[in-house]
Amino acid sequence: MTSEAARLIAERGITLISFDLDDTLVDSDGAAPVRLDAAARRASEVIPGLAADLLMDARSRALAADPVVQGRLQVFFGTLGVEFDSEPARAIRAAYNELLPAVLEWTEGAPELLVRLRGRYRLAIVTNGPTTIQRPKVDKFRLSELVDHVVVSGEVGVDKPDPAIFQHLLREAGTVAERAVHIGDSLQSDIAGANAAGMGAIWFPPHHRTPERLVEGGPRPDAILRALAELADL
Ligand SMILES: [Mg+2]
Repeated sequence: MTSEAARLIAERGITLISFDLDDTLVDSDGAAPVRLDAAARRASEVIPGLAADLLMDARSRALAADPVVQGRLQVFFGTLGVEFDSEPARAIRAAYNELLPAVLEWTEGAPELLVRLRGRYRLAIVTNGPTTIQRPKVDKFRLSELVDHVVVSGEVGVDKPDPAIFQHLLREAGTVAERAVHIGDSLQSDIAGANAAGMGAIWFPPHHRTPERLVEGGPRPDAILRALAELADL
């Protein structure tokens, strides 16, 4: 059966398919437990006399936090009573971030989908974050070889949901918004941004956290995708 998202892409004569990276093509949130373990180990090294039960509490609160509303590390530091800009926080943050490329996995079905769509559509990634954090992920999965355009917000100076980042992609790809869709897990950045740019917007609700709620007058997906495999029959 053709999915809602596949139908949208076919009916609009879409030529450019853009994907969000974190929690869309790659399972960033799935790496949170092991990254928090690394943060906890580093915390016990850099904070003398840190109580083990407080550390465990910080880890479990951070894991339960909604990373979209509040960063996990903010919750971790808040529980430990560590200032975000302090020296221990910098060391803990480094442990948390350094580990990500090594432990990151694909979202189920992502590589198969990219290989399948490659050549039939122009493919892109539009991701928010600094180069130093986003490029190692792109390199790990050789994404530059699997898609035609990789747009990192830290490199173009503008973040989703600002439509300028999508306009940057459209210029690079030499296409128009009406022939493009963006697929992502965040209503606030992916769907709102695609809406603002006039592109089709396909929402891929997150798997490890409670999805944001669709509200009247808020970001408006044109279709909802439950699994990447739903696009396999495009
Ligand atoms: Mg995302």
